[in-house]
Amino acid sequence: MTFPTTMSRSTSTCHVDDTDAPVDSFNPGRLDLARRRRGLTKSQLAARSQLSSRSLLAYERGETDPPPDTVERVAATLAFPTAFFMRPDVDEPSVDGVSFRARSAMTARQRDQAISAASLATELIDWIAERFELPAPTVPAHPDVGPEAAAEQVRAEWGLGQQRVANLVHLLERHGVRLFSLAEEYAEVDAFSFWRDGIPYVFLNTMKSAERSRMDAAHELGHLVMHLWGGPDGREAETDAQTFAAAFLMPRRSVIADAPQSPSVAHIVRAKKRWNVSAMALAHRMRTLDLLTEWQARSLFIEMSKRGYRTREPNEGERETSQVLGKVFAALRHEGLSPAEVARELAIPKDELTKLIFGLVVSAAPAPGVNATGRPQSIAPRGKPSLRLVD
Ligand SMILES: [Zn+2]
Repeated sequence: MTFPTTMSRSTSTCHVDDTDAPVDSFNPGRLDLARRRRGLTKSQLAARSQLSSRSLLAYERGETDPPPDTVERVAATLAFPTAFFMRPDVDEPSVDGVSFRARSAMTARQRDQAISAASLATELIDWIAERFELPAPTVPAHPDVGPEAAAEQVRAEWGLGQQRVANLVHLLERHGVRLFSLAEEYAEVDAFSFWRDGIPYVFLNTMKSAERSRMDAAHELGHLVMHLWGGPDGREAETDAQTFAAAFLMPRRSVIADAPQSPSVAHIVRAKKRWNVSAMALAHRMRTLDLLTEWQARSLFIEMSKRGYRTREPNEGERETSQVLGKVFAALRHEGLSPAEVARELAIPKDELTKLIFGLVVSAAPAPGVNATGRPQSIAPRGKPSLRLVD
């Protein structure tokens, strides 16, 4: 696995001006991407942009370049900047390589929307990687040992032993995982991950409780470690990733040593803080490790369900935020570049960037000394500063 230190992609931006100059660098792949991001079919977009379906198809296939006023109309319909359609190709992750959970529950439209959001994230991370030295990936592959052993091996390789993982997002980032938020309006997409050019990506639904988001992150780590190099697919992979996540966050020996004996729900709610997991997850793990009888476990689950703990986490912990994105946006802000301006550089709608970092970056006040017109000539910090990540 190597991390690209130089990027060949051009960052020059084009725009359509008010003249009648022909658009000669229209990128049909980006029309397809923006349409899928908006969850529109070709005929829906054609109707909304007052185009014939045949014309739209010809534009998406690259058979004909749309005239400038058509580009502007389509861009307005999709609420994407016109410049977005003039940029180089996007290296989209392939559907087959993405660890969507419960594939059957997701519509193709939702899957397309999520993948196209991920494509925008890869653009953002490429842009960031041109300016900052990001941690090199050190996520091992353990496809053959089973989820419990895989979790123990990753813990050993990362020097964790039986220790509690204080902040899983920070830990993953230190090992080169690029994390983004999936602040989608639908609950069907929990989280997903994929590899791209040797770099692991994880997308988290940050609308969930802090504990569930953390468990999702561990689940996706399981896929990265066990499956995305080729392995079981479907339900078996899901069960394995879930077992990996529980074993990674609640190591066997630490749970055996520290979990309460014959616990009440109140005991579980207190004890779960030790591992920063949901009350349900701790009870499940204790049952797996035979620390609860089937009868004890069932009584606890019934009681927790009655109290609504399946959807609302009691005694919720603090959400884990991204150190990489936090530091990058703080450094950029210090240079006078706000997230809105980063979105403009990438020619993506501002709310797309906001969604990618939602819940992962604590919004920072503008850096002192930067005034409204103080956009610097050069936005790239000198050299490529590496981000010092601490636990
Ligand atoms: Zn999964």
